[in-house]
Amino acid sequence: MNSEEFRKKGKEMVDYIANYLEQIESRQVFPDVEPGYLRPMIPNSAPEEGETYEDIMKDVERVIMPGVTHWHSPYFFAYFPTASSYPAMLADMLCGAIGCIGFSWASSPACTELETIMLDWLGKVIGLPEEFLAGSKGEGGGVIQGTASEATLMALLAARTKVTRRLLAENPDLSEGEIVHRMVAYSSDQAHSSVERAGLISGVRMKKVQSDENYELRGKALRKALEEDKAEGFIPVFVCATLGTTASCSFDNLMELGPICNSENLWLHVDAAYAGSAFICPEFRYLMKGVEFADSFNFNPHKWLLVNFDCSAFWVKKRSDLIGAFKIDPVYLQYDQQESGLVTDYRHWQIPLGRRFRSLKLWFVLRMYGVKGLQDYIRKHVRLAQMFLDFVKNDERFEICAQVILGLVCFRLKGSNALNKSLLQKINNLKKIHLVPCCLGDKFILRFAVCARTVEPNHVEFAWKHIEELATELLTEGGKNNKTP
Ligand SMILES: *Cc1c(COP(=O)(O)O)cnc(C)c1O
Repeated sequence: MNSEEFRKKGKEMVDYIANYLEQIESRQVFPDVEPGYLRPMIPNSAPEEGETYEDIMKDVERVIMPGVTHWHSPYFFAYFPTASSYPAMLADMLCGAIGCIGFSWASSPACTELETIMLDWLGKVIGLPEEFLAGSKGEGGGVIQGTASEATLMALLAARTKVTRRLLAENPDLSEGEIVHRMVAYSSDQAHSSVERAGLISGVRMKKVQSDENYELRGKALRKALEEDKAEGFIPVFVCATLGTTASCSFDNLMELGPICNSENLWLHVDAAYAGSAFICPEFRYLMKGVEFADSFNFNPHKWLLVNFDCSAFWVKKRSDLIGAFKIDPVYLQYDQQESGLVTDYRHWQIPLGRRFRSLKLWFVLRMYGVKGLQDYIRKHVRLAQMFLDFVKNDERFEICAQVILGLVCFRLKGSNALNKSLLQKINNLKKIHLVPCCLGDKFILRFAVCARTVEPNHVEFAWKHIEELATELLTEGGKNNKTP
């Protein structure tokens, strides 16, 4: 394809994308395909001779679209949102065009410098304490990671190295292996599975501390776990607190956890993957009270802030903790300027070497929506969740299972888990809307998450009516089945 063809096909692709998103409501939100559906639809090996673009695009509709779960359908209420906006998509095109690999300042100065500044912008708009910002000579700073999972792992690895070095200096008799073997990290039992995974990858034992009746991790429970583990000779190193848990959007108590972590020399990482976007609205910032105690903080603009995947924002108070932990400097990556407030080499802040120019997406979105536009967007989703909450509350067959603060409603039919599983199955079999469940305690629960950028009250109303009708159907069937002849 030459540039002339690209001009033409590029414009066609923009039209295809705009049509897809404009008409997404007419596509079934969840696909009908069975596992393995795709292999018989395309050849067994790559073509010898090049094919035409037209043939490929035909196959997009024939092969790909029937197997797509349409995350941006306004009938998609599963998981948490994944962001999508036109400014972010345009910026991603440009990112692809520049196609630089910004592992060091010199490898593409704009890529590095825009990222540092965008993370400062973003930190400021969500009200992060000054210490997390880079400024021109701050000790902190932000970096774009691919996912929250990577951010948690980076924080844990940095904590592991920091503690190992401290203990080796204090006790020259200890071996590094011995120290790591005795390390323990903590999260609540509501933490995302990626936190447990970070423990597995890093080789640091990860313990789940029981959350309270509101699914929040409290100081007392952490204190108890710490005392028990220390008495047994373990070395506590790290706590991952969650703001906005995946199951129920509960908030760990940073005001209680923070001072404990600080006084015990534990690295406090805050995972606000979903909820972090809401802090752009001042009225939700009370939810991150105590963030000043944290060593690192992470949220996903790619979830709820209109920046398409992948864009996970990660800040540390002391960049030296990251750089100190992961710095390796082969000759082929060196250049004249030294790392300073002005020169950042992001390869020391992440696991891979290569990195895309992802800050362009943030820049485009922050500028085109403005803080006000993004606040309006968050508030609209919160209002829609409240609307759904009211529907559920007005139907006495249902119960609400967790506090509704942002865009997630956890609800269930009063009754058994089996009943609720049947309801969810009915919903997802019909594929008019899409939901996923969670478990809270021993209860099976349905999660209704406001997701799509284009979701409106009529979609929420439709979803509720649909759920309500299926519940009626289920309860009547149940009544029939229960009747003894
Ligand atoms: C979604 C989510 C994650 C995982 O996010 P990735 O960016 O996909 O790794 C982690 N923590 C919480 C609380 C989440 O909601």
